[in-house]
Amino acid sequence: MKVVAIDGPAGSGKSTVARELAKRLGLDYLDTGAMYRAVAFAALRNGVDPADADLVARLARDISIDLREDGTVVVDGADATIEIRGPEVTRAVSIVAANSAVREELRVRQREWAAAHRGGVIEGRDIGTVVFPDADLKVYLDARPEIRASRRSQEVTELSYETVAADLARRDALDQGRSDSPLRIAPDALVVDTSEMSVNEIVHLLLEKLG
Ligand code: C5P
Repeated sequence: MKVVAIDGPAGSGKSTVARELAKRLGLDYLDTGAMYRAVAFAALRNGVDPADADLVARLARDISIDLREDGTVVVDGADATIEIRGPEVTRAVSIVAANSAVREELRVRQREWAAAHRGGVIEGRDIGTVVFPDADLKVYLDARPEIRASRRSQEVTELSYETVAADLARRDALDQGRSDSPLRIAPDALVVDTSEMSVNEIVHLLLEKLG
């Protein structure tokens, strides 16, 4: 089973790079951020306060999350593809992700996914540090904050650059500051600053590393 773990903050290029690398390696791709977003979506949809740790933990255990090959995300039978990227879910997700019971549940699902898919290219925040510490390759992607904000801002056209930049900084601080599996660079990770690099250059570098 071959696992490539790709971690890093929002806007560092993880999704684009992970998807392309998976294609090149003939592996499947898992976006673990979409799983945390799915739990936040389910909480909001069911009128559950994202900060209510017990209720959110129960939701995380009960809901079905279907991440399809074409990028569609189905949560308990409802198409949540658009909404999980929206401002409400984006605002709530880091609170949900700081919930240890939620992390425990999603970690199990992520490992089951990898076993069922015979490995994969898996992106998130704690993939190389916690979920797959024995991954074949661990990558930590980063970029300058203003570059990450401007990348995100191009995807989220309904919000101003300033709002996107502030949201991103807030989410980074929560993801790095939480006690359970915070965003950290694994000691054996390959750290790549993607600020001035094209997707192709990054993918080439990773393919070279994998040998
Ligand atoms: O990758 P994305 O920006 O969609 O992730 C959304 C949020 O999910 C992150 O800000 C983080 O709070 C959480 N997350 C996490 N661990 C992961 C993946 C995502 O805590 N492995």
